[in-house]
Amino acid sequence: MSRSLPEPWRVKVVEKIQLLPRDERERLLVKGGFSLFQIPSEAVFIDLFTDSGTSAMSDWQWAGMMQGDEAYAGARNFFHLQETIQDVFGFSHFLPVHQGRVAENLLFSTLLTRPGMIIPNNCHFDTTRANIEVNGGTALDLVISEGRDAQNLHPFKGNMDLVRLLQLFEERGDDVPACMLTLTNNSGGGQPVSLSNIRAVSALCREFGIPFYIDACRFAENAWFIKQRELGQGHRSVAEIVREIFGFADGCTMSAKKDGLANIGGFLATRNEELLEVLKQKLIVIEGFPTYGGLAGRDLEAVARGLREVLDENYLRFRVSQVEQFGAMLTAAGIPIMQPTGGHAVYIDARKLLPHIPQQQFPAQALSVALYREGGIRGVEIGSVMFGKDDPVTGELIPAPMELIRLAVPRRVFTNSHLEYVAGVLEDIRAQRHTLKGMRMTFAPKVLRHFSARFEEVEVGVGVEVEETAVAA
Ligand SMILES: *Cc1c(COP(=O)(O)O)cnc(C)c1O
Repeated sequence: MSRSLPEPWRVKVVEKIQLLPRDERERLLVKGGFSLFQIPSEAVFIDLFTDSGTSAMSDWQWAGMMQGDEAYAGARNFFHLQETIQDVFGFSHFLPVHQGRVAENLLFSTLLTRPGMIIPNNCHFDTTRANIEVNGGTALDLVISEGRDAQNLHPFKGNMDLVRLLQLFEERGDDVPACMLTLTNNSGGGQPVSLSNIRAVSALCREFGIPFYIDACRFAENAWFIKQRELGQGHRSVAEIVREIFGFADGCTMSAKKDGLANIGGFLATRNEELLEVLKQKLIVIEGFPTYGGLAGRDLEAVARGLREVLDENYLRFRVSQVEQFGAMLTAAGIPIMQPTGGHAVYIDARKLLPHIPQQQFPAQALSVALYREGGIRGVEIGSVMFGKDDPVTGELIPAPMELIRLAVPRRVFTNSHLEYVAGVLEDIRAQRHTLKGMRMTFAPKVLRHFSARFEEVEVGVGVEVEETAVAA
């Protein structure tokens, strides 16, 4: 029998979590208008809302926190981070920021100099898209078509469509001030990009004189996938692969809340010193002096150490296989998920699991309510609550293309038995899925409505037309 290795860490500090009694969970659901955003964290047993900023830090990172130098200028931790970024990524110049989106804001408020400019990416993350759009740009997603198919088993579903990228450069090259590539492709399910695709994107950018930036949030997970899946890469170290990846880029934006293994932080790196100078002046206005960028010295140290630690291949092997095994457990329990599992999360197809609930009654929201009600588990709806729109004329819902629930796995936080529990709860939900009710939105704010929408439970099909929504189970 082949056996996989267990968690490559032992527990030194614990944090209590508890499953509240069922009637208490029920009370909180009703009080919060059936929105999981309204449930206090302490009332959640297994929180799989996000992998962002939720990592458990190591003893080495915590030890580093004690050595925070809180000087206004030139703190020692800045220099540690500088050395790390040079060693890990090969960038000599960077600016620390308190979150990835500030790096995006700095970059796009500077590069988008006139209306009508375009930033291509495999898939833009929502903060990236927002920072491009508020600066008058168009955020264009050019992921390969396999990346849009929830069941396609392509090993690198995050790859950029090179044909469409070339076409864009040929037709509109003058309107493209930069090209991005997101590693791994978060919005597309945490799917990796191959080294050969990164190389090809870089070559095209160079040919057309377009700067190439990487959204580096999950760079180590992406490099691990390259080592596992790409021909001729298996013998190389992840550190070596990472250096090669970033050698192709002119810079990167990074949220250290992901593969920085930190609870806050990020940075922007660029090889363009002229641009760096402009961004530095903006940073001083919106974040702080360029040697701390909105972070405490101790936070800089946690990031500096996290960026080195994340390259540990025993850690990465466990990390990626934990998510993969979680997906396999769900599949074995008859729960339909997006395939293959990506690096940081499992996505459940709620439309397939609950074909009796029409999209107008938000099946993914109904499932997220059931997960909390049955097991104190919190996932996030990625369906018509988040991406649906109201028809401006009829007021009817124009549903999202997919009704998904994302169960993100925080780094180094949950053991495999926590995830087995989640799979067990889902198995129970599946057994009684025909009893699940639909949801009706009772309060729907205009912007980013998923954050504050409220709901009530309704009988399936009441008040909506159902014919075209039924999908085979
Ligand atoms: C989280 C994330 C960001 C934004 O980072 P914040 O630290 O949340 O501001 C940008 N891109 C991707 C791919 C992300 O996952």
